[in-house]
Amino acid sequence: MAGTGTAHMRPDGDRVLTVTDLVVEFPAGGGQKVHAVSGISFDLLDGETLGILGESGCGKTSAGRAVMQLPPPTSGSVAFGGTELTGLSPAALREQRRRLQIILQNPVAALNPRRKVKDLVAEGPSVWGGRPDRARIEEVLRAVGLDPATVWDRRPHELSGGQCQRVCIARALMLDPRVLICDEPVSSLDVSVQAQILNLLEETKSRYGLSMVFIAHDLAVVKNISDRIMVMYLGKVCEVVPSATLAEEARHPYTRLLLESVPEADTDGAAGAARENTEPPSPLNPPSGCRFRTRCPLATDRCAEEEPVLREAAAGHHVACHHADV
Ligand code: SF4
Repeated sequence: MAGTGTAHMRPDGDRVLTVTDLVVEFPAGGGQKVHAVSGISFDLLDGETLGILGESGCGKTSAGRAVMQLPPPTSGSVAFGGTELTGLSPAALREQRRRLQIILQNPVAALNPRRKVKDLVAEGPSVWGGRPDRARIEEVLRAVGLDPATVWDRRPHELSGGQCQRVCIARALMLDPRVLICDEPVSSLDVSVQAQILNLLEETKSRYGLSMVFIAHDLAVVKNISDRIMVMYLGKVCEVVPSATLAEEARHPYTRLLLESVPEADTDGAAGAARENTEPPSPLNPPSGCRFRTRCPLATDRCAEEEPVLREAAAGHHVACHHADV
């Protein structure tokens, strides 16, 4: 089986997103390829938040963008509701993207610096056939914690990073999304502002009945906001675990490494793991078998020869490791 298996996929439940055997590769010159995502699968239930956790280069951002078809994956399936997104015409894809919105890491760069807040927030619906009325824009600005009277005519450079991220969330909400993909939405913000934006995302999810995919390198952040966590390493899925049992029950050696690398007050967990251990191998030429084997304290010959697939460790908990206690 290509990739890391599908044992963690849930046949029952109201699935809003089903991603199967997703592969993302980029040309790298000299006939080489970057193996950014190598056959991962996951699903998202209605009202759920799935956290995707891993250090820089693990493929989590490429996976999120491939779900949005930005760009489309090299292969694999992305089903949003009942619609397969891969292979849709540009017009049909634009229609689907109204309900599948993405929040990016750098909110300042995501906003047109020449436009005022009122126009930035109205932009999406305007493209789709009519500028929303002022009351609707004000309602959404208030929902994201911005005072319409204060920010209405301001441009991005007149706002803080946190306020810009609130504007980005407001822009997404104007299109009445069903799923929000949040790609490192707080990592460029001051620590003091991060908690405010995370609280806002949780409130927004509940108020608007959304489902979320929350992508981040920071274990503490992902754990707090997610119902379920998928840990990625070098383009593969290592472990899928309920966030409530992550700390006590995680079994994959990489997940354990991430957990052990987080001091009590550390807010940069996975990055901390990367600092304390050897750098991951290049995604140009990933290791055979288990991709974590070059950094794994439990690795054996079998790990070089055979790729582990996800196996059930407990209800809702799956681990891809030959030697974890599953
Ligand atoms: S399969 Fe082998 S190398 Fe990979 S995590 Fe498990 S023990 Fe380590």
